Amino acid sequence: MHEPERSTAFDTRAVTAGEKALAHEGGYGDAVSPIHLASTYGLEALDPSMGLDDVDPDAGQYLYGRLSNPTRRALENRLASLEGGEHAMAFASGTAAIAAVGLSILEPGDRLVAFEDLYAGTKRMFTELFARRFDVEVTFVDATDVDAVDAAIDERTKLVWLETPTNPLLRLCDIEAIAELAHDRDALVGVDNTFLSPYFQQPLDLGADLVAHSTTKYINGHSDSIGGAVITDDAALAEELELTQQITAGGVLSPFDSYLTLRGVKTLPLRMRQHESNAMALAEFLDDHPAVRAVHYPGLESHPQHDLATRQQSGYGGVLSFELAGTQDDAIAFLDELSEITLAVSLGGVESLIELPAAMTHEPLDPAQRDAIGITDTLCRLSVGVEDVDDLRADLERGLERVSAVESVAGGE
Ligand SMILES: *Cc1c(COP(=O)(O)O)cnc(C)c1O
Repeated sequence: MHEPERSTAFDTRAVTAGEKALAHEGGYGDAVSPIHLASTYGLEALDPSMGLDDVDPDAGQYLYGRLSNPTRRALENRLASLEGGEHAMAFASGTAAIAAVGLSILEPGDRLVAFEDLYAGTKRMFTELFARRFDVEVTFVDATDVDAVDAAIDERTKLVWLETPTNPLLRLCDIEAIAELAHDRDALVGVDNTFLSPYFQQPLDLGADLVAHSTTKYINGHSDSIGGAVITDDAALAEELELTQQITAGGVLSPFDSYLTLRGVKTLPLRMRQHESNAMALAEFLDDHPAVRAVHYPGLESHPQHDLATRQQSGYGGVLSFELAGTQDDAIAFLDELSEITLAVSLGGVESLIELPAAMTHEPLDPAQRDAIGITDTLCRLSVGVEDVDDLRADLERGLERVSAVESVAGGE
């Protein structure tokens, strides 16, 4: 199998890992992986002793596009290298990647312990698919509290599912502490690392058993592909994911999306550094602004888990959220005024995107549920892009002038 390439620095591996050797296989020495569109591959001779398991893409053997594809393989090898894992499997979406994890590990009667503050689609999958259809007992806990996770894990618990930081309030959980107590009871720990990417957080190093990504976000980074991946060091789990999920369930990433993602991830380190420095500058600007009631960004010292963020992450990321003073009408007026920052769901692309969770991503929750998790009517989530930070600040400033609370504060009471 593939050996993780960790002898070179992250920035180098982001550009070349997994790709160079494969690019030479076509015979032209392409500097980048070609998009291999073939759905099937001609065999030189029939060898009846060769089973599916013996077909090794890393040795240049291919049989059929769902089983393996050179472009997808190059991406998988690169993602394994970047997360510091042995094996990676790419799927048709982040959602498909997370479903593949659950379907590889859980059986009816098992328990799944999950952070209550999850990506809404993942939460829906756990309740509607795993609990309702597959009879898995799903327990949501406040994973910011290690003791709460500890109390929820029992001998039936096979998987603990974490996201850190969470969306949209940027809450963190302590991966290392949770992995330790989960392993004491033989449960696996999975971390959705979409928000930070392997550039800022390496869950496998912190003791997690597997990492999942929506590559749609930072890894591809250009808002032009939907994809997902799972990375693990666990050979048995990797085999299960490949055989029962990629090959048998079939939700693999297409060659074209593999190519785009392979191309996008080359600049992951550059983008992440710029996302973060822009996000930090905007968090500080918003924090000082009279029209802003609260800013949630792990890079601010006022963030309740700033110390954990500093210890567990190598950066604070590019997503922040903030609550405007005033009403939802003020928030709508603010959003309406923005011209550089696009009103849209999703995150992690080079362009800045803003959304109002109460009316968009978290609208399906009823107001009481939103209140319970701290999503107010004026909470805005900003995925800070890589544009010039002064232009972004000016855009926000123009929008904030539309918040009626500013006049009363600025005018003095
Ligand atoms: C977007 C997202 C997902 C889902 O990924 P898709 O590629 O849209 O299926 C899962 N987790 C997190 C944290 C996300 O942001």
